[in-house]
Parts: sequence; structure tokens; C-alpha cells
Amino acid sequence: MSEALLTAWRACRDAVERAARGRHVTLVAVSKSRPAAQVRALAALGQRDFGENYLGEALAKMADCADLALCWHVIGPLQSNKAAQVAERFDWLHSLDRPKLLAALAGRRPPQRPPLNVLVQVNIDAESSKSGCAPEQVSALAAAVATTAGLRLRGLMAIPDPALDPARPGGAFERMQALFAALQYSMPGIDTLSMGMSDDFPAAIARGATMVRIGSAVFGPRAARVGPAPSDA
Ligand SMILES: *Cc1c(COP(=O)(O)O)cnc(C)c1O
Repeated sequence: MSEALLTAWRACRDAVERAARGRHVTLVAVSKSRPAAQVRALAALGQRDFGENYLGEALAKMADCADLALCWHVIGPLQSNKAAQVAERFDWLHSLDRPKLLAALAGRRPPQRPPLNVLVQVNIDAESSKSGCAPEQVSALAAAVATTAGLRLRGLMAIPDPALDPARPGGAFERMQALFAALQYSMPGIDTLSMGMSDDFPAAIARGATMVRIGSAVFGPRAARVGPAPSDA
């Protein structure tokens, strides 16, 4: 396996640790469009959490890696007709953003598995192109997740608009930190704020991220995607 991949992963892990200043921050390696062999190579180093956007691709990779004890995260938009497969197979869902999806997940978690960990995705910069609920909808949606059997509400996720500098004072990271703190006040059980990607994860961690999703900084630049549209997730 390429030495470059291992070096890049170590550098990211170290940078996450430095930014975390003694807190625990989970590094989710975003393995979309990467082969199972690269997942295996990182797993051998101790990387446990992997994020995927496209359900078909993810399920094939998970089958390839079924002998490894890994933790699989759905981080991309999810169609409700595919929600049951996510409930059956994955460990985390970062993109719960509407009641309809909740209805499609309800009752689908196999009883022998621990609950599916769920994050409510917030469209923090109100981008028309992005999924996620409005900040005003967070508390109602969070409450609904918390009372759905088979799901465990863990916190919030966001993908800020990079053009608006999420790290600036009053920017997306700061607003997410405040939203998370407010939710945690009414729901002390939540513990996860998923924000920060290759280009901005140290700033996200400085604003309270407990989970970062890193793709290209670990695996190198992604080739343009071929095949089904992103809504395939
Ligand atoms: C692809 C993706 C990432 C990783 O992006 P990089 O810039 O490659 O680190 C993180 N989160 C989501 C939701 C993604 O789709």
C-alpha cells in the first residue's frame, strides 16, 4: 500500500490531536470513491471510523471489509426509500434533516444491534443547494429523533459554505457551536458536533467540533465522480 497514504493519514491524525488540545475528537476518514484496499490499509494502522456518501458503493466496501471491526458513517444526503438499508447496516447517520426520513428509519433498526447513532444536519448557511434543516427546526427534529425507537440522538452536523469563511467571528463554526450548546442544555445526553473537513478542520475543532470528516487530506484529491448522481445515497 502506498506510503503516501499512510504518511498523510498520520499527519491528519496528529493535526487533529494538536487542535483538540487534550479533548477527544474522532477522525472520520471519508472513503467515498476510494477502494476497500485503502480502507484496509488505514484500518491496519488503527483508523476505525469511515464515512461514505453513496449507499451502493458503501455496502460493497463494507462487505469487502466485513472481517474488520469498523464503524461506518453515512455522511451524504439520504433518500427516504434507502433509509431502511442505512438503519440495518450502518453505525452512524450524519444527515437526518427532515421528519420524513425519521419515519422511514423508525422500526428498521435490527433489535440485536445497538441503536443507530444519529446527527441532525443543519443547513447553517441557508444554501439552497445543500440539505440540512434550518436552525429553527433543530430542537423539534432532535426531540423527534430522541423519541424514535432504534435511534440514538448524538448531536449535530453541518457543512458550512467555504466561501463564507466558516472560521471567522460570527461564522458558521461559531453559530454551530452555539446551537450545539443550546441543544445540549436541554438534552444533556448529546455529545457530538460533526463539522470540519480537509480544508478547515483545525478551525472547526477550535469551535468545539468533536468529530471531523476528512477525505482528500488523507486520501489525496478525488477524481470527478462517475456514475449515479449524489442523490443515490
Ligand atoms: C466528501 C465529504 C467530506 C470530505 O471532504 P474533504 O474536503 O475531501 O475532506 C466531508 N463531509 C461530507 C459530507 C462529504 O461529502
